[in-house]
Amino acid sequence: MIPVDLPPVPGEAFAGYLLRICERMPLRPRTLYRYLGLCPSGHTLPYLPLFLQPPALGRVMDALDLDEPDVRALFIESFAAIDLSMLRRPRSAAPHRDAQRAQWLFMGGTRVCPACVNEGRPWMNYWQLAWAFGCQWHGTLLTDACTRCGRRPDLVVRRAARTNIATGRACQCGARWSELPTGRQLTATELELQSVLLDALRGGELSLWGRPVAGATYLASAQALCALYAAATAPIDGLWSRRPLLTPPPRAAQLLAAVTAGAPVLQAPTVLDATDAFDALVAPVSGWGEARIWDHVPSHSPVAPIAWRWFHERGRASAQLSRIYRDVFTLVHLEPDAVPTLADVDWLPERWRHAQHPELPMRSATLGLAVARLAGARTWAEAGELIGLESAYAPRVVRHTLRTLGGDSEFELNEAAFAYARALTRQSGRVALRPRLPATSARDLGDFGRRAAVPLPT
Ligand SMILES: [Zn+2]
Ligand SMILES: [Zn+2]
Repeated sequence: MIPVDLPPVPGEAFAGYLLRICERMPLRPRTLYRYLGLCPSGHTLPYLPLFLQPPALGRVMDALDLDEPDVRALFIESFAAIDLSMLRRPRSAAPHRDAQRAQWLFMGGTRVCPACVNEGRPWMNYWQLAWAFGCQWHGTLLTDACTRCGRRPDLVVRRAARTNIATGRACQCGARWSELPTGRQLTATELELQSVLLDALRGGELSLWGRPVAGATYLASAQALCALYAAATAPIDGLWSRRPLLTPPPRAAQLLAAVTAGAPVLQAPTVLDATDAFDALVAPVSGWGEARIWDHVPSHSPVAPIAWRWFHERGRASAQLSRIYRDVFTLVHLEPDAVPTLADVDWLPERWRHAQHPELPMRSATLGLAVARLAGARTWAEAGELIGLESAYAPRVVRHTLRTLGGDSEFELNEAAFAYARALTRQSGRVALRPRLPATSARDLGDFGRRAAVPLPT
């Protein structure tokens, strides 16, 4: 055990905490890393700011006399909405890239609030997130690079760094963090945006277009909107990258600008309002084709239904339609009768359709309900009425299905509903249109199985 009584501060980042210990001992950072087993065979552990796996985890717990939750709290894994399971698996095809595309994990270093460092506050864990732009303490924009050498602060001791390394006090060029210019004061609205994002990161439930969603879903929406904004404005202000969905904005100010631009869509109370806000967001690129929009809003994204709806509204003489009419059945141009009670099993997400699974009919009904939502039903109950399921029962069917399948089932449902709705819209030959079942009550769902088993006419 290291003979120093220096507990981590709540919200502190692991790398900064280690440097604080080194300073107190004093000890060379490399020595401490070696002692803690953080650089077996000379390489610093991969993904160090994200999580710590055994055996290093146990070694750090013993050496620093900390409980497991205290150690885990120092890593990005402590943000409940962040899913690192892809990276924990043994290396497969391209987990790094997939994980990054799914949620912007890697920023390469950290942001910093010079005023916080100056006051002796710890380096915060959330500064390492791509979603961080504001200091919660000072209400200022975070700083993302050393003004003398231009390097992004990075407190993790890397093997490749043979010469000086950055410390909690100074950049590797020697410039002191506390002497960097402090970012501008943020407005109340901007600070609120940062709190909402942090809430989502901590796994809180947020509201998206009138529906409660998990923090991860909210962040995925924000990511797609930021990417769209970046792509739409790149010719104008040279924003970050050619692949904004893969690469988070490198500068805090860029992130703030993108999040601010996407906020009206995220905060819209209904899907309809969100579509209007979406229209404003993509106005600079209204000439874009469908394919380019889908480059930036992947079909599994929660924003996809909004983008899809926007496409259709833009292409038709929507001005002539009353708002009430637009509210229903515009998204996928489906007639109410076209949505089957039991969706074709072939369109269920792959994981959902084990042959002969007793819950297959329930899952089919869930997909049918989701399509009805895309077609404009504002609640699951309304969707139920639309497809002939008793309205009180419909929300329970969905809840049950999502709960029993767990994992990414919400995303999978979203994606499947989207694909199925498109197919139904086009009446493509791949879709078997099922006849509508008569209004069904909870007791009748058992019958679904038998009905669904009847082969479809070809
Ligand atoms: Zn600060
Ligand atoms: Zn520097």
